[in-house]
Parts: sequence; structure tokens; C-alpha cells
Amino acid sequence: MPSHACDPAEALAEVSSVYRDLDQRPVDRSCIKRTECCHFRLTGKTPLLTLGEALVMAQGVRAAGSKKLVENTDGTCPLLASDGKCRVYSHRPFGCRTHFCSAAGGPYARKEVLDLIRRLEVVDDKLGGQGPRALPDAVGEALKRWTGDQLKALQ
Ligand code: SF4
Repeated sequence: MPSHACDPAEALAEVSSVYRDLDQRPVDRSCIKRTECCHFRLTGKTPLLTLGEALVMAQGVRAAGSKKLVENTDGTCPLLASDGKCRVYSHRPFGCRTHFCSAAGGPYARKEVLDLIRRLEVVDDKLGGQGPRALPDAVGEALKRWTGDQLKALQ
């Protein structure tokens, strides 16, 4: 564990701050919830999450009443519900907030959000993470690492 480690509450606060700062960026995009980007097998792309983002997601999963991820056999995100909506939209990770489909304006350029990516990397390091991991692995690991009571206490 790094000597400058932070606790989960600090990590959550910083990741939430990154998401708020992202919302303030003057980049013209509008997610219209077509959920194309949630079809990983179709797009060939799976969002990568740092540990702080996975912690936020785990909180969302628990808040939605689940204890673990349920794999969708059709290759869609495990958080995509059968009604086509994201189960944890307000807890969705950075990638889901920046990789817009063309209908929504296209993905952000990395340079537009590089400072925010760096802040997420710092949180990952402080939590002892190993860098970005694919969404199902990252969230599954976070749900094992932090208990429901711990996640609830952080809300
Ligand atoms: S977390 Fe939500 S928005 Fe992101 S890919 Fe999964 S279902 Fe889609």
C-alpha cells in the first residue's frame, strides 16, 4: 500500500469531485441514452475503470439492491437492465461519461480531460489499485473488497 494512502471516504469525495468538474467542461456533448456504448460485444469496447471509479460503481450496485454483478449473456454491460436503462447511471464511470457515441457528439479527446484522468489515477494509486481494469472485473473486485455495510456507511 502506498505511504500516502487514502481511505475510501476520501477516494469517493475525490472521484465525485472529478465527475462534477467534468460536468463543468465546456465540451458540447449530450448523452441521449441510446445505450449503444453499453453493448460491449457489439462495439468491441469495454470501459476501463480505476479503483476509485469501481468503488463508486460498487456503491451504486449496492444501492440498486444487488450484492454482485450478474453477467448478461448477450455481451452487454452487466449494469444494463432489461428495460434498456443503466442500473447505476448516477454512479457510472468516467468512460461512460466521456466516450459518447457519434449521435451524442462523439468521444471527448483525451487532451480535453487528461487532468481529470490523472486525478483518477492518483486515487487508484492511493487505494492500492493496479491501474484501469475492465468494468466487470473492476466492479466485481470492488464488491468483494468493500462490504455492503462499508459502502452504506460511505453514502
Ligand atoms: S455502467 Fe451504465 S452507462 Fe456504463 S456501460 Fe454499463 S450500463 Fe452503460
